[in-house]
Amino acid sequence: MKKIIVVGSSNTDMVIKAERLAAPGETIIGGKFLMNAGGKGANQAVASARLGCPTVFVCRVGDDIFGRQALQQFALEEINTDYVIVDAENPSGVALINVDAKGENCITVAPGANAYLSIEDIENAWSIFEQNDILLIQLETPIETVEYTIQKAHESGVKVILNPAPAAQLSSSVFPFIHIITPNETEAELLTGVKVTDFASAQKAGQVFTELGVQNILITLGAKGVYLKSADFEGIVETPQVVAIDTTAAGDCFSGALAVAIHEEKTLVEAAKFASKAASIAVTRMGAQASMPSRAEM
Ligand code: ADP
Repeated sequence: MKKIIVVGSSNTDMVIKAERLAAPGETIIGGKFLMNAGGKGANQAVASARLGCPTVFVCRVGDDIFGRQALQQFALEEINTDYVIVDAENPSGVALINVDAKGENCITVAPGANAYLSIEDIENAWSIFEQNDILLIQLETPIETVEYTIQKAHESGVKVILNPAPAAQLSSSVFPFIHIITPNETEAELLTGVKVTDFASAQKAGQVFTELGVQNILITLGAKGVYLKSADFEGIVETPQVVAIDTTAAGDCFSGALAVAIHEEKTLVEAAKFASKAASIAVTRMGAQASMPSRAEM
């Protein structure tokens, strides 16, 4: 059976909850400490694998405790790690996250090995692109590697799903190689210049993406659902209404689940419904990878 190829980042999130955030130069005593597996690439690979789709993940981790922990976690999720590179020179990516009593946060990411995922790494992994036909990729690894991978995958007949997160500029030449783009409102605004808040503004942003050459556009609008524009459909696909507890990685769950639905040859409307359902489950639970639903729950 063909696999979904995920190319992206793997991080370890270290979270301290405290009454308030520390001021510059200040030390404060916090409360709970939590360590969670994260990174947009890893989160999306877990979402895809947990929904029952064979998944292969291409990333870089450090030769350290966090890298080994990530590899163990991928194995538990039955993610193929043949192309995970253990970087002897650079540490694993980590994010230090402080959260105050109101839920406000302050995050510093040290990308570490993620920042060294290179075009050569992709070349070395090319045989998996020859054997499979769906690529899911984000923007948490070097942009030149991402753009190279998108173009080469497209030229080799692999369908490219780009989750353009975190928000970053892309060269205009890359858009025609994208089969599906899945920005949230902020990312859609950065890439199109249109402030997206509702259907009318999403439609304007969708038009810009079409003019740039993207084939299918899904702009996620949080609890408001998803704006979908494809050759034969334009409109809002609704998201199940739930009581959200923690929206961390909602977008990652959405993109991972969308890739699974495309792999199963669902139509785009069906795929958007499937991905919305998965993400609506994820927001009812704490955490990133921990919140991803299984196929049985779906
Ligand atoms: P991101 O996490 O990238 O900011 P969104 O906030 O748009 O992305 O969320 C992605 C998807 O997660 C949405 O399209 C929706 O399906 C689901 N989702 C997010 N927030 C909620 C919510 N409060 N209730 C139900 N579903 C939600």
